[in-house]
Amino acid sequence: MILKERTKSVTHRILESLDHRTTLSLSEKTQYDNQFKGYAGELQFDNKMKEAGVPGILISDLLLSTRDTSYQIDSLLITDTCIYLYEIKNYTGSYHYKEGDISSDSGHLIHNPMNQAERKRAYLHNLLLINGYQINIIAYVVYINPDYYIYSLPKSPAILFAGQLTSHFESLSGQASIQDHKYLTLAKKLLVMHNNSYRPLNLPDYPLESLFKGIMCSECFSFGYTVSRQIRTCTICGHKEKSADAIHRSIEEFRLLFPEKLVTK
Ligand SMILES: [Zn+2]
Repeated sequence: MILKERTKSVTHRILESLDHRTTLSLSEKTQYDNQFKGYAGELQFDNKMKEAGVPGILISDLLLSTRDTSYQIDSLLITDTCIYLYEIKNYTGSYHYKEGDISSDSGHLIHNPMNQAERKRAYLHNLLLINGYQINIIAYVVYINPDYYIYSLPKSPAILFAGQLTSHFESLSGQASIQDHKYLTLAKKLLVMHNNSYRPLNLPDYPLESLFKGIMCSECFSFGYTVSRQIRTCTICGHKEKSADAIHRSIEEFRLLFPEKLVTK
């Protein structure tokens, strides 16, 4: 049962819009690429889970905030025996493991995703405890891309490579499914706690005057269009959309880019 479907993050949507309305700097472009790749990897994970028909309540990209921090959980599967927390990484290439560090061929260290997953598990554990729930949480790091390998990595049940996902999901399917939705109340509580208005601090600067104005095609992001009988047709890809829908979509985009500005005619 899917309680919350995945959507693109605020950063992803802002960078996507800016990429077509201005010229992103090299570092912004890299940030956008990472968002794009990350999201694609998460969708792949969702598809594999759907195909496997895993029982339980699924919440995707849950954003929780405490007094001193905000953290995003890529996937949370609530079953009647425990909660599975998945940190999904769409990395590619070969890396090396040594004494807790993961480094690339050129020697650059990457943050060990296991530490991120464990940190989130601890936050969630405490949050549930405050709300009166004592339920076991198991954290996994999922390397969704088959083209990713870590040499000398000690065997760890908390790490799932792409090739291991099917058998992992099968093992979950074998367990008792949620009969009475014992934890549905908990799942709904978590959803209420989801921070919808979260905006990360590392967003780029983009004055309104510097952006290309106009309504973008929702399919190919181009600006050219023709209108007949209130239907807007993209001159590049031919996508048709009701003019009113295109306007609503653009108002949402404006609100996303400039939440503090008033929308005027
Ligand atoms: Zn188009």
